[in-house]
Amino acid sequence: MATFIRFWFYPLLLLATLAFALLALYADASLPIAFSTFAALRLALLLGVELCWPYRKTWAISWRSFIRDLKYAVLVGGTGFALKFGATWLAISAADERRGALAQWPLILQLIIVALTYEFFQYWQHRCSHEARGPLGRFLWRTHLQHHLPRRVYLLMHVVGHPLNFALIFILKFSVLYALGASGAAIYLFGVLLGLQGLVSHFNVQISAGPLNYLLVGTELHRHHHSANLAEAGNYGVLTPFWDIVFGTFRYDANKAPEALGVSAPEHYPTSNQIVATMALPFYPAVPYSRKNDEP
Ligand SMILES: [Zn+2]
Repeated sequence: MATFIRFWFYPLLLLATLAFALLALYADASLPIAFSTFAALRLALLLGVELCWPYRKTWAISWRSFIRDLKYAVLVGGTGFALKFGATWLAISAADERRGALAQWPLILQLIIVALTYEFFQYWQHRCSHEARGPLGRFLWRTHLQHHLPRRVYLLMHVVGHPLNFALIFILKFSVLYALGASGAAIYLFGVLLGLQGLVSHFNVQISAGPLNYLLVGTELHRHHHSANLAEAGNYGVLTPFWDIVFGTFRYDANKAPEALGVSAPEHYPTSNQIVATMALPFYPAVPYSRKNDEP
């Protein structure tokens, strides 16, 4: 079973997701309902697989980290969810009313253009949040670092983040999707793929996707993005590693996972459990905190 999950689970899930998305599209189903029903079923399946076959036990969910996730879910999860998926849904409805120039092109071509253009802006926003210097760079890092504080990376920790980071991505995503003038169908397919990869990239299960790692960002690539060792922490793409390959930040080693996950200098920051301090970071970087309750 472990071999099946390692080599076949993810490609089959990808195929099933695409098949379901196309079926919903051509059956004229309500796209938001199809999108959310399938996303909920997929999340339940992935949670089950992760619980039964965790890759590293030290990176798996613990009671303590689960309670931390719940706090983030209550405080920022709703906003994050609404902003993350709201941009796609808003763009789908706007696209159907507007019928932009790109909407006349073949669907697959539109999908490629939407994915590469969105990823270009996402890549630089994400890379600047990690690497830019000066007041703006520091501010961007303080809106994003919350997501990098956890030392365990698994499905549910996806919710750990700052609403300002979600809001910036919302503005970026909606602006790009609207400006491109693609059809609602192309944006829908893009949203479905982005949703799948976002989930799979935090999956604490041993997946060996082979050449697919050059096309889509999954668990093997994104785990390196969460590495505590900055030398191996590239991979800023969220859907495709295309711009990482172009700009030299692609990190992939089929036989190696990071030694440790988290930020490179945790002593400079509160822990992800100290939610008031982490939420205050963009506004009060010098907020006092103690590391007594360091997470495991
Ligand atoms: Zn990041």
